[in-house]
Amino acid sequence: MSSSYDVVVVGAGHNGLVSAAYLARAGLRVLVLERLATVGGAATSSTAFDGQEARISRYASLTSLMPQQILDDLGVDVRLAGRPMASYTPIQRGGKASGVVVERPEGRATRNSFIALSDSGREYDVWCTFYSEVTALARAVSPTLLAPLPPEREIAAQLDPATWRELTTVPLGELIERRFSDDTIRGIVASDALGGTFASLRDPSLIQNRAFLYAMMGTGPGEARIPVGGMGALSDGLAASAAGAGAEIRTSAGVSAIRSGEDSAEVTWDDAAGTHTVLTRFVLANVAPWVLHILMGEPDDPETKPQGSMLQINMLLDRLPRLKSGMDPAVAFAGTMLISPEMSTLEAAHAQAAAGQVPETIPSAVVCHTLTDR
Ligand SMILES: Cc1cc2nc3c(=O)[nH]c(=O)nc-3n(C[C@H](O)[C@H](O)[C@H](O)COP(=O)(O)OP(=O)(O)OC[C@H]3O[C@@H](n4cnc5c(N)ncnc54)[C@H](O)[C@@H]3O)c2cc1C
Repeated sequence: MSSSYDVVVVGAGHNGLVSAAYLARAGLRVLVLERLATVGGAATSSTAFDGQEARISRYASLTSLMPQQILDDLGVDVRLAGRPMASYTPIQRGGKASGVVVERPEGRATRNSFIALSDSGREYDVWCTFYSEVTALARAVSPTLLAPLPPEREIAAQLDPATWRELTTVPLGELIERRFSDDTIRGIVASDALGGTFASLRDPSLIQNRAFLYAMMGTGPGEARIPVGGMGALSDGLAASAAGAGAEIRTSAGVSAIRSGEDSAEVTWDDAAGTHTVLTRFVLANVAPWVLHILMGEPDDPETKPQGSMLQINMLLDRLPRLKSGMDPAVAFAGTMLISPEMSTLEAAHAQAAAGQVPETIPSAVVCHTLTDR
């Protein structure tokens, strides 16, 4: 291998691989160093169960923000399969089991299930109006993922001023309470704001609004897609694209130090053969800022250590669970099944977790990949 590079990418998560593939295509000498034995980071597939051959997306499993243009640019031939349902939420009211259906796109079954909840079509009409506003915002913001960030006014100009003001200045929880009246419907909307975000829906920082916008931006409300072949197929495709363009990818190679100089940097890593150091013009850190600071020899700041509040459980089943409502499980599990997503439950769970307790009721989302990718 060479002793100097234009760019060393630390970490072969999907973002590191995308960067490496573009940089190598631009003619730069690129080295990717990954601590683990496989590439992909949290976007990977593995045989998680002893004696079972099934390869599953062990961590991230749904893609919504991966722009098709990146796959096309990099020649990655992975199909992102859509799902016919956005969500199904089992509920129990008046001693009767039923459920809230949200199809993709919303249709008669969605409307009927909303009417069954509230005896009127009001909540469904509010839903349609709200999502048409949110979709307009998501459509205006989406192109900025692949272009230089424009000034705020350029995006605002594409939208109704009231919509822009509400979605960008009012905490999502407040907005949802103003619009919707049913606790479960409120929570189904709010659930999209809580993936990867540990916040109250009323958080004044609006981080939950941002997470909600991310969820809407990729492909649309509830339209997270499943990569056929699993997340590993996507990351492996990106790695092959980077390697095909000339990037060197080293796994089981944990970076232990980055020393930044005037016009170059030294990157040191360890693998089975020992300790190695290379010179590079640029370092692209595809790791958390907390990790980067440690690698650069700065004092460890525990405040910046990334912490999550989520638990994921992978399961391999012989058959789908039956539902008390009698709903066909192949339909109920075709999208994301939301368990206890009432807005009051989401807020209580956040408050208890923030106080260091395990929430009394844990809101959950269940995804059955094999209904989409056999
Ligand atoms: C359980 C779980 C479920 C998720 N579900 C979804 C989902 O369904 N949809 C979705 O969009 N997002 C989901 N996410 C979030 C998503 O997985 C991440 O946002 C995404 O994978 C981050 O990619 P990345 O390339 O930025 O970083 P990472 O995937 O974190 O990659 C960083 C890489 O750097 C390597 N590394 C770290 N330190 C060093 C070092 N010193 N030297 C060398 N290498 C190092 C790591 O081993 C890792 O491979 C989920 C996350 C988790 C944890």
